Amino acid sequence: MKTFHNPHHAAHAGQQEMFRGRMVPCHEVPARLDFVLAELQRRPLGALQTPEVDDAALDAAIGRVHSARYLDFLRGAWAEWVAMDPANAERDALPSVWPLSNRHGFRNDVLPTNFAACLGLFSFDSGSPLTAGTWAAARGGAACALAAAQDVSAGARSAFALSRPPGHHAGPDFLGGYCFLNNAAIAAQALRDAGHAKVAVLDVDYHHGNGTQTIFYERADVLTVSIHGDPATEYPFFLGHADERGAGAGEGFNLNLALPRGTGFSVWHETLNTALQAVQRFGATALVVPMGLDTFEGDPISGFTLKSADYFTMGEALAAAGLPTVFTFEGGYAVDAVGTNAVNLLEGFQRAA
Ligand SMILES: [Zn+2]
Repeated sequence: MKTFHNPHHAAHAGQQEMFRGRMVPCHEVPARLDFVLAELQRRPLGALQTPEVDDAALDAAIGRVHSARYLDFLRGAWAEWVAMDPANAERDALPSVWPLSNRHGFRNDVLPTNFAACLGLFSFDSGSPLTAGTWAAARGGAACALAAAQDVSAGARSAFALSRPPGHHAGPDFLGGYCFLNNAAIAAQALRDAGHAKVAVLDVDYHHGNGTQTIFYERADVLTVSIHGDPATEYPFFLGHADERGAGAGEGFNLNLALPRGTGFSVWHETLNTALQAVQRFGATALVVPMGLDTFEGDPISGFTLKSADYFTMGEALAAAGLPTVFTFEGGYAVDAVGTNAVNLLEGFQRAA
């Protein structure tokens, strides 16, 4: 299994996020990726390389899942933030006002010229600081996702896009949950565009993959499945319920498997089997796994109780689907353990594949 890692990831390093009335240090830090990379050097699974993809092809791949309006915003965001006030160069951009989209709520079709308003228009939380290096880091991550999808399309059994910031909370035209560009969706779309008729996304992060769900919600060619903490109590709260089954042509092609806080591996594993059966029934020819390691018992912001050894079993179970598979790196905030847990999962997969 080749790993495509993002040489620009550390350019995105937020200082603080808003958490329940306080500014707290960011959980999503560059060291997360460094630990995974170090563990892959200690226990190699295959080549470790930076992605080499054509610039125009990369922009096209990103544009397949994100709107032009959102990408224009994201590309120019830092310059606009600093233009508002030169002192902003020293602080991260965070939104403080949002257009509620209820039936009689605020409008989101008119693009404000005030950048602070734009920031709210294109985001859904205040936990995702946008920094000077965010665009470069996010674009570098999209390159990893595209390279991994290309490798698998060319015949590799699996590939790993090792990047941060993560991606699965980012939607067609919004950021949030520490995510800016949806790497898993970019990989899934790239697999479709390379000729895979049916692609499944199986999200194993603790948090519902709301961005990926939204991107593919009305499509029958990409099945989205997510196993996650019950949104009644867990972030991102406003999506991830069992009755969200897809819409229009996509009706029946979204599956949410929510589990209560405190769930351990035996129930989680049974739920994974349910997810894999859905992938099989769908007739997927390729699989994308947004790989969050925040299901770990030691995770500071999550609530399942998986142990490090469980990730081997998880990898083996995913391999049993028998599909060409792209892994993207998502959450996992027990930083000291994230390398071990990530590589356990990938090693379990590779051993069984
Ligand atoms: Zn997560």
